[in-house]
Amino acid sequence: MAGQAVNLELTEAQSAKVHSTVELLRQAVRDHGPVTYSNSLGAESMVLTDLIWTQVPQIDIFSIDTGRLPEETYHLMERLERRYQRRMRLVYPNAQSLEAYTSEHGVNGFYNGLNERQACCQVRKIEPFKRAIAGFGAWVTGVRHEQSASRALAKAVDFDAPNGLYKVSPILEWTHEDVWAYIRTNKLPYNPLHDKGYPSIGCAPCTRAVEPGADSRSGRWWWENSDSKECGLHPKIRIVATSKAPA
Ligand code: SF4
Repeated sequence: MAGQAVNLELTEAQSAKVHSTVELLRQAVRDHGPVTYSNSLGAESMVLTDLIWTQVPQIDIFSIDTGRLPEETYHLMERLERRYQRRMRLVYPNAQSLEAYTSEHGVNGFYNGLNERQACCQVRKIEPFKRAIAGFGAWVTGVRHEQSASRALAKAVDFDAPNGLYKVSPILEWTHEDVWAYIRTNKLPYNPLHDKGYPSIGCAPCTRAVEPGADSRSGRWWWENSDSKECGLHPKIRIVATSKAPA
């Protein structure tokens, strides 16, 4: 977790990863610009926000405010604004679609089954995401190979055919330790939920703490089977149906 291995210096290998990440971001701007970064405000996002705003500032940054984020995430946004004296774009769900969803499924309808959960992610995340990336040549993600079996298959630069633009994943090779070494060394702000056992932080009702050493995605939609744990922003990842309600 966040509190492990406090190390205030990057190793040579970690510095090389920083260098190649910045190069990949610059190359994305050169080859596919304009580029936008879909910021999830997790630990990886602290690294990418820092690298983009300090070294490749022409990359746009947005985050989706689903309306169900933990309070800690809003405080983190504020800390980022203060540190960098910049604001990322905040993108919101369409109000009419959200009203239709809650009217049909209830305010916490996502717990009722996979279809209801995916419909909520569609309204609160996917539709706003598609609006947010419209007009860009590439979007940046903070996924890493070791995060889950499905993410192990991701490529650094890939054409995201369903969305019609390139997808750039510049920290694929970073390990959990690399991410935290960069955060500690640069004294970056991060979500305090990481110190409470949350490796991956999304909407409050769909995220919980995990046991040390567990799959970093296992705290997301924990009532579903492991193959379905993506919200749909990574379209090549297979979604498998299940409908077990949370305990
Ligand atoms: S993570 Fe949960 S609350 Fe957030 S959009 Fe998906 S189903 Fe809805």
